[in-house]
Amino acid sequence: MYDVKSMKAEEFISDEEIRETLAYADANKDNMELVDAIIEKAKERKGLTHREASVLLACENEDRIQEIYELAQQIKKDFYGNRIVMFAPLYLSNYCVNGCVYCPYHLKNKHIARKKLTQEEIVKEVTALQDMGHKRLAIEAGEDPVNNPIEYILECIKTIYSIKHKNGAIRRVNVNIAATTVENYRKLKEAGIGTYILFQETYHKAGYEELHPTGPKHDYAYHTEAMDRAMEGGIDDVGLGVLFGLDKYRYEFAGLLMHAEHLEAVHGVGPHTISVPRLKKADDIDPTTFDNGISDDIFAKICALIRISVPYTGMIISTRESQAVREKVLPLGVSQISGASKTSVGGYADPDAEKNAEATSEQFDVSDQRTLDEVVNWLMKLGYIPSFCTACYREGRTGDRFMTLCKNMQILNCCHPNALMTLKEYLEDYASEETRKIGMELIERELEKIPNPKVKQTTYEHIHDIAEGKRDFRF
Ligand code: SAM
Repeated sequence: MYDVKSMKAEEFISDEEIRETLAYADANKDNMELVDAIIEKAKERKGLTHREASVLLACENEDRIQEIYELAQQIKKDFYGNRIVMFAPLYLSNYCVNGCVYCPYHLKNKHIARKKLTQEEIVKEVTALQDMGHKRLAIEAGEDPVNNPIEYILECIKTIYSIKHKNGAIRRVNVNIAATTVENYRKLKEAGIGTYILFQETYHKAGYEELHPTGPKHDYAYHTEAMDRAMEGGIDDVGLGVLFGLDKYRYEFAGLLMHAEHLEAVHGVGPHTISVPRLKKADDIDPTTFDNGISDDIFAKICALIRISVPYTGMIISTRESQAVREKVLPLGVSQISGASKTSVGGYADPDAEKNAEATSEQFDVSDQRTLDEVVNWLMKLGYIPSFCTACYREGRTGDRFMTLCKNMQILNCCHPNALMTLKEYLEDYASEETRKIGMELIERELEKIPNPKVKQTTYEHIHDIAEGKRDFRF
């Protein structure tokens, strides 16, 4: 039976509730009175329930879809401004004992090159990432209690934070590792991680079990209840996501919002981020053998609906998506993107290492292959501020404290100046001449938009100090 506050996966992600939701959405998708009422409710910027959002997802009326896009753009502007936060994934190890049928790291893949970074190799990887200008990483690893135990992950985090190369520093490490225990989540929290990210892959239990036939990840309940354990362990920034392409997107969308509603109902704070990865070609994985791929238009619609359904939750797009798709969905509500990503183990320090090798360690093909400078340049030309900010969690603004900032629309007095100061650091230390020129002009223009005169003055001073060589200012 459906119970948003239950701690049991099958009750807060009730299959029956999702099926009824989809039937309700089908029955009402042409009910324009209801559709309009839901859009009106979304305009209040307090979000939508999974049922309401599912009706909009089912609705095919072009005018209404356009209205949803416009609203998503407006909500994004109001809550997030024009900042886009930058990050990069760092693959630590692709040893894995699971049998995920869509992931080339699955245990039975004897063809893939298995690699695990030593601490010395991590220093090289992180130095290369710092030299590009990255300040925020998402660490990734397969699940393997022997090769990648929690102690290994903790040691890697410690190493990453300790590396100070030139003006570089990794100031926030987000973690994307398999579901684990409350005790381990506590250790991750103590290690100073930012967000704990875990993709649900699919909310459809039967499908989930087929897609994860072997290994610890087979346990649907353990995986689905991971965020509750993470929160119990003290991590209050958690990131959800489904891997679109595995199961029916409407089912996944309802499940995703139900998961967000559950976290809010039980812990008083919803997910910090939602990722929207789509299945990609990889070593022994052919995405066309899966039946549920979604078009770019449906993908964009999902992004816009996430934006209006959970206005305070950040949305992440990785380099699984091409430049063109990223351009299409950025205005609809995306707040974070990765740049210059490598999905191989050790790919940053030695990008050509696997070029002529027989086997690769890559997790999936990257569609957006541009350098970070090119991505930063492109974002600015589109009118965005690429932000390398990591201030919130370093100032203790996690969980509901961050949400309060967002809900009170204080972004322009806080995140906006932080974005400008970190962009200035990037321009000083890493940018090409052309990118620097565009960036300096952008900063001049954007400084004028800071509403609070005191904050504006302080930001002016810090921007000046950064040009003089000082670093790491934040509000
Ligand atoms: N191993 C960890 C786990 O099981 O949650 C997380 C790390 S894994 C490196 C990160 C994510 O990559 C997975 O959660 C999955 O959604 C995604 N992924 C796996 N295979 C993929 C593929 N072929 N295309 C796109 N994304 C994929």
